[in-house]
Amino acid sequence: MFEKTITELSAALRAGEFSSVELTQAYLDRIKQFDGDLNSYITVDAEGALATAAEADKRIQAGETGPLIGIPIAQKDIFCTDGVKTSCGSRMLDNFIAPYDATVITRMKQAGMVMLGKTNMDEFAMGSSNETSWYGPVKNPWDLERVPGGSSGGSAASVAARLAVASTGTDTGGSIRQPAALCGITGLKPTYGRISRFGMIAFASSLDQAGTMTRSAEDSALLLQAMAGFDPADSTSADEPVPDYSATLNDDLTGLKIGLPKEYFGEGLDPEMEKTINAAVDEYKKMGAEVVEISLPNTHLAVPTYYVVAPAECSSNLSRFDGVRFGHRCEDPKDLEDLYKRSRGEGFGDEVKRRILMGAYVLSAGYYDAYYLQAQKIRHLISDDFTRAFKEVDVIMGPTTPDAPFKLGEKASDPVSMYLSDIYTIAVNLAGLPGVSIPVEPVNGLPAGLQIIGNYFAEAKLLNVAHRYQQQTDWHRAIPEGYDV
Ligand code: GLN
Repeated sequence: MFEKTITELSAALRAGEFSSVELTQAYLDRIKQFDGDLNSYITVDAEGALATAAEADKRIQAGETGPLIGIPIAQKDIFCTDGVKTSCGSRMLDNFIAPYDATVITRMKQAGMVMLGKTNMDEFAMGSSNETSWYGPVKNPWDLERVPGGSSGGSAASVAARLAVASTGTDTGGSIRQPAALCGITGLKPTYGRISRFGMIAFASSLDQAGTMTRSAEDSALLLQAMAGFDPADSTSADEPVPDYSATLNDDLTGLKIGLPKEYFGEGLDPEMEKTINAAVDEYKKMGAEVVEISLPNTHLAVPTYYVVAPAECSSNLSRFDGVRFGHRCEDPKDLEDLYKRSRGEGFGDEVKRRILMGAYVLSAGYYDAYYLQAQKIRHLISDDFTRAFKEVDVIMGPTTPDAPFKLGEKASDPVSMYLSDIYTIAVNLAGLPGVSIPVEPVNGLPAGLQIIGNYFAEAKLLNVAHRYQQQTDWHRAIPEGYDV
């Protein structure tokens, strides 16, 4: 049962091969068996999961046919969940139980999904290796000495090791696509505004977007269907019609125009990674696609721009964690100032503090024009690069990451080298575009991801392009050694 896709599981549940309670219990047992090493979950809610599964079984018996009823899922611990701890990977929220569900959670509950638990993540989603979590690093199931990527590292590792059928992630600068690539799964970051941010703890509000982490594009289409759509509770959610994402998965790709940005294949890209990406692009040529070289000339400005915009927004968003209303509060404060200082000093880790300091600096009087305003202008130039490219091509392809998963600790003391691991993903968030990472031929036995970037609201096209590749190849079916099912 651990090998079945959502569609197959759903058919098996309806045919009575096993119940949702049995399926859920099997996943809970597997989590017990493997998660001691992996550390992909912060919280496992066995009781809640089994109760929801029992309800799902009743719905199935009553003849309901939704494809997600009774399917176990892991939720990133950034989504508020009524009654179950939401830590955001931080000591600051180690004691926080939200009094309401995020819209993503509500919609998945309505669809009948069973939440197994909440997955480990970089603290407040700041990181690319899952090493900034207060709950300790997540290990990559392909090699326990390596990182799973971040910030949705727990979500990626849990799906790769078959400790969840699927999971959710959030992506501010690459946090769905990068860990998906490093763990060998399919990760989709939709267009900004496609999925409601209500109840998703904010990092950088103009960049944050929720998405899916699954084994296949086919599974992703089913999850996205449940998650996408306008939400009156989020003023930035898009009031755009939601297409049937499964309906166009098999569309023919003859004549598809693929743009390969020359900036994504230059210095800094591991030559072995380049080979595997080129091989994947060749697969598309066989399917009738045309390849054109394009240029995204402002690519080199994406990381520096992001590290002005994202910290600026985070310094504002994280000011709400002040020890007064929720989260960690220091012992015996002397006065209000002491309460603020010590609660925040104790509650936040080093990376989060670094971002808050950078953000407060670039927003301060005297530096605002030089840094923040300048970054906003460059952000426009970066979006314009894509707008120009999409006049010529249907999708853009390139590597998701410059290299394969790195060793735990390898980049932890060098923030800049860590930041550069998102060099191909960050511009997509600055422009608000959708992107998906799919597993391609491994590099030296370790997972690698092909990134496919689409125009605004082109999620159906991205899933179609990803799915056709997965019909031709088996990389998305590979299971890490030791996690056989
Ligand atoms: N790695 C990037 C950062 O640290 C992106 C994180 C994310 O997408 N949440 O900010």
